[in-house]
Amino acid sequence: SRARVLEKGTKSKVTFNDVAGLEEAKEEIHELITFLKSPGKYRQLGAKMPKGILLVGPPGTGKTLLAKAVAGEAGVPFFSLSGSEFVEMFVGVGAARMRDLFQKAKMKAPCIIFIDEIDTIGRARGKLQAFQTNDERESTLNQLLAELDGFDTDTGVIVLAATNRGDILDPALLRPGRFDRHIHLELPNLKEREAIFGVHIKPLRLSDDVHVASLAAQTPGFSGADIANICNEAALIAARREKQQVDKQDFMDAIDRVVGGLEKKSKIIT
Ligand code: ATP
Repeated sequence: SRARVLEKGTKSKVTFNDVAGLEEAKEEIHELITFLKSPGKYRQLGAKMPKGILLVGPPGTGKTLLAKAVAGEAGVPFFSLSGSEFVEMFVGVGAARMRDLFQKAKMKAPCIIFIDEIDTIGRARGKLQAFQTNDERESTLNQLLAELDGFDTDTGVIVLAATNRGDILDPALLRPGRFDRHIHLELPNLKEREAIFGVHIKPLRLSDDVHVASLAAQTPGFSGADIANICNEAALIAARREKQQVDKQDFMDAIDRVVGGLEKKSKIIT
């Protein structure tokens, strides 16, 4: 949901250092970087990369971040769009956007196309949301399928897509040669939360009483996005209190605030 339209193919500055935890996912995705750096080596051997990789995991677990890190590490352009942008579009407009995106990407290959919230486009029949008509969704989805079928990874374009719900996707999307590889991202465990706090406190000026281990212990069930949010919130609170450093109390209050926000959100959902 945080991905904006980046159809121009921007350079990503994100690297694996920005992604804490997620070791398995990073390992699984590492080969893509090698491939994007020198697709020719693979071509010579006749080795084919998968075209589409689906990143599946709860909100805020770093799917977008990981996709950007792959582009950043490989030094290739990153094209992205979000499935939610296709909501309430006139029939045909979504399909044209999709065609356009792939066309631009192919000219800039090797590169990455990232499709966030792919379930919005790729929901199985009968599981549409109220605002979607079948025609509109189907024409966009069909265009995506045609684009996926219409190129070889020889061209050096890799499509990464993200969803919170792998189970509701149209099986057509998951067939061999489409999104046939899945990488699962989970909510971070204690050690991983500690590492994520480590990444996000780096830009802050901290007081000695702040310890990442204890912050991690107080945030079970929090996502990476929640943790990033807490760190920024703590710094804002410290600034409001005109402190020179962000201290433990600021973090405690930031955690309370983020917990409050999460509770409100879940009330709206249920
Ligand atoms: P959504 O499903 O809501 O789109 P997402 O899985 O794509 O979420 P991101 O947008 O990648 O999540 O994460 C949001 C932000 O949370 C990131 O920009 C980053 O600041 C932080 N974050 C999430 N996971 C991690 C992580 N593993 N390491 C460091 N920061 C993280």
